[in-house]
Amino acid sequence: MSAFEVVPLRAFTDNYIWTIRDAGCAAVADPGDARPVLDYLKREKLRLVAILNTHHHADHVGGNSELLKHCKVPVFGPHDPRITEVTHRLADGERMTLPHFGLEFEVMEIPGHTRTHIAFHGAGMLFCGDTLFAVGCGRLFEGTPQQMHDSLTKLIRVPDATRVYCGHEYTLSNIRFAKAVDPNNRALRQVETRARQLRDQDQPTLPSTMAQEKATNPFLRCREPDVIAAASKYAGKPLTDPVSVLAAIREWKNNF
Ligand code: ZN
Ligand code: FE
Repeated sequence: MSAFEVVPLRAFTDNYIWTIRDAGCAAVADPGDARPVLDYLKREKLRLVAILNTHHHADHVGGNSELLKHCKVPVFGPHDPRITEVTHRLADGERMTLPHFGLEFEVMEIPGHTRTHIAFHGAGMLFCGDTLFAVGCGRLFEGTPQQMHDSLTKLIRVPDATRVYCGHEYTLSNIRFAKAVDPNNRALRQVETRARQLRDQDQPTLPSTMAQEKATNPFLRCREPDVIAAASKYAGKPLTDPVSVLAAIREWKNNF
């Protein structure tokens, strides 16, 4: 296995195209736009070796076809015909090896944001698209609160030190909401201070870690008394199970 680093390429207003690279090659996760990838490959003299897709939304797969015109590479993604370019369709628990890098990833099906969303977990990294964000979670476009809850519960089983590479820079607005839900959370204040510093320097707040998410992310903390109390207040009735707590705070966030 070669030494590698993971570099964020910006796309649109707040997407990140996560790029695994070494001295000669690169693989990209969720290339919503080909341009920033092609510019980066050219500038750094890198050869593209693979594309990973977490879900079918255009801001994550829109660059696939243009990239494939320049380089015929395998595209790893979910069983979803809406992503026509996928060459290797992967289901829950399957493993894949990233070409050239030799990194092994386990695929996790994590529906909620979309019906067929997957994550890639391996080598101390989690590429989770729009299901889990730093201090937040994705909107429920095609899934139910139960599905999102089950998917997040699945994700938190990865080791605490796992670096969490999410699809968007939403951290500061997620923190603003999390403070309303979980006002006494001290870890949240620390993450806010650091996130502000990074954004003031125009730096990404990502990757996060799973330990940080467990400590600060209200959608992973639906069993915490403070979160239950805030969700119940929003819902106007006592909520007892974590799925209804998640449903309430997800709806609250939509209107926040
Ligand atoms: Zn999405
Ligand atoms: Fe997205």
